[in-house]
This record gives sequence, structure tokens and C-alpha cells, in this order.
Amino acid sequence: MIRFGRTFNMRSFRNTFRLTLALGFVLGMSLEAKTMISKKPFGKTADGAAIDIYTLKNDRLEATIITYGGRVTTLKAPDRAGKPADVVLGFDSLDGYLGDNPYFGALIGRYGNRIGHAKFTLEGHTYSVPANDGGNSLHGGLKGFDRRIWSATVDGETLVLTYLSKDGEEGYPGNLTTTVRYSLPGNELRIEYSATADKPTVANLTNHSYFNLAGQGEGDVLKHEVTLLADRFTPVDKGLIPTGELKPVAGTPFDFRGAHAIGERINQVNEEQIKLGKGYDHNWVLNSGGGALKLAATVHEPSSGRVMEVLTTEPGLQFYTGNFLDGKITGKGGKVYKQRYAFCMETQHFPDSPNKPAFPATELKPGRKYQSTTVYRFSAK
Ligand code: BGC
Repeated sequence: MIRFGRTFNMRSFRNTFRLTLALGFVLGMSLEAKTMISKKPFGKTADGAAIDIYTLKNDRLEATIITYGGRVTTLKAPDRAGKPADVVLGFDSLDGYLGDNPYFGALIGRYGNRIGHAKFTLEGHTYSVPANDGGNSLHGGLKGFDRRIWSATVDGETLVLTYLSKDGEEGYPGNLTTTVRYSLPGNELRIEYSATADKPTVANLTNHSYFNLAGQGEGDVLKHEVTLLADRFTPVDKGLIPTGELKPVAGTPFDFRGAHAIGERINQVNEEQIKLGKGYDHNWVLNSGGGALKLAATVHEPSSGRVMEVLTTEPGLQFYTGNFLDGKITGKGGKVYKQRYAFCMETQHFPDSPNKPAFPATELKPGRKYQSTTVYRFSAK
């Protein structure tokens, strides 16, 4: 039989137990993924402007973000054994970003995705924006937000980037004051966008990270398994401008309502839409309809076990499978980026919305606030 010593009594046992619980709680809180943020110089642009690189790091994820284009330049996430890999394409130095590249990691604006015929009409005025993609305008024009220098401040555990896009910049009306907040709460990269304008304008902001969950440069993404919470998508014409139809995905290679490997149907070129996109390069109409922050997509990479979930307040998602990567770009660590070596999940309003009155509106009026949140959440299984 066990006998307790004379000093034992039930009340002090309970008190000790409570104290231990309280201590555990406080310790637990301080051990909870806190993000540390540090800053270093990352080089200079051709006209001598200094660019900084910020590192955001907690006990699960590490991201670096530069003030040139607000670009996510690395994002390290653990695999099922806890081993981290950098899961986004990019360059080791600023020169790569200054040179020709398809928006690696960049913030995209003022209008992400395409505007048909590079023109739109707002309150009776017709505005012309740069035709940098055939006759259409893509990702904000020749010098969009991806090639602008953002001002950075640190607010606690958040990196805050701001950019003032002047009235008339790239043809868009009104001064647009834009703020993007990057943070790493736990296992998430969270991006919060907001903007206000002093004249009626259009706004559609996104991030153009190229993901490969096996690790950047580690082969193509064809085995990644994708689920998209969307019953419909927006079919396109040959310039990748939506026809206006919201087409059910049922019975097409665009049906990702259950998980499918990217490579399973990507070469079905007898499917007109696959042929036009040279693979997947389309906007899915999210079932959430936009508004609240909801799950839009899940991607699983079987060899590493990494899983990325995308949550957004946006009504659309451009799922692009790196069809135009062609091996001409050498990125981080000397890796060559070939066709389909990455995929993008660009949360957004639908392409060409300024010319499609039936699509959710992208007009931003003075006195109103543009707000949008997207979360890339990482785990492994
Ligand atoms: C577009 C693609 C384009 C890529 C890089 C994507 O958002 O939909 O067509 O090639 O960006 O420019």
C-alpha cells in the first residue's frame, strides 16, 4: 500500500496542480509560433534605389519578402519528416527580379489578370491601359505593382508594405493608396490587401507566387493533387479573355471538386479550353462567392507529404500551371525552371471584369475601401 508522507495534503496538491497548469499555459503561449522579423539590404535598382529584404520566421515557416514588387522570394515549409524546403520559385539576387521574369512572387496590381482590348469604361470615360499581352492588358501593364518599390514598416509581427499609385499611372484613373500586410500566423502565410482611391477606378490585387511543394526547381508539378472548391469556371477566347460564360466544370478536365493530379488531364488538347490555355490558365468561380475568408483550394504533393490550403475572401482563383515556363530562366541555387515546374493560385476577381457587367464588380469608388485577404496554409501528411 502506498503511504504519503506527512507533508502531503489534498489542498496543497490541488494548488500545485493549478500552478503547474497555469505555468504550462503561460509557457505554451510564449512557445506558440511567434514571428521574428529582420531586415537586410538586397541591392539597388538601375537608378540607384535601395531594396531591402525582410525575413519573417516562426517555428514552422520562414518567408523572405523584398520591397521591389513586394515579392515573396523564399517560403520554407516542412515536409512530413519536418524537413523544410523552399517551395516558391525565384532568384538569389535582385538582378533576377529586375530582369525579365513572369512575375515571380510579386504583388500584382492595379488590375491583376487581363483586361480585354486594353480598354474599359468607367462612369462615361474610356480608359486605355498598356496592351502588353497581345492586344490585351495583363497584370497592371508594362510597369505594374510588381515592378514598383514599396515602403515597408514592421507592425509587431506583421510586415506592412504601402504603395501610392498615382492618378494616370499605367493609364488607370485616380490616386490609389495600397497597403499589403504580410504575416505568418502559425503555419500560414497571410496576405491582407487594402486600398482607397480619390477617383472612381478599378482594383484587383493578387500575389503571383509560383509554388512547387516538392521544393523549388525539383521537377514538374504534374503529380501534385489539386482540389478546387468550384462548380464553374470562366472559359476563355484565344487571348485568354473570358467569354462571359460561367461554365459548369462537370464532365471536363476543369473538374477538381475531388482531388486530381495536375498531370492527369492537362494534355487533353482535344478539349478546346485546355488547348487555348496550353494547360490550366483559367479562373475558377469559387463556390464561396467571395466575402468571408473560406477554403478555395487544397494541394497535396505525395512525395514530401506537403499540403497547401488556399483560403480567400475573393470570388475567383486563377489556377495557372506554369505553361509558359520554358527552361530559359535559371533561378535560386542554379535550378532551371522548365515548363510546369510550378503552379500559381492567384486569388482575384474574374479577369476582364471592368468589361463584363455580369461579373462581380471591381470598381472602387472614393470613400470606399478595397479589402481582400488570402491565406496559404501549410501542413504535411
Ligand atoms: C496568367 C498567365 C501568364 C502568367 C505569367 C498568369 O496569371 O494567367 O497567362 O502567363 O500569369 O505572366
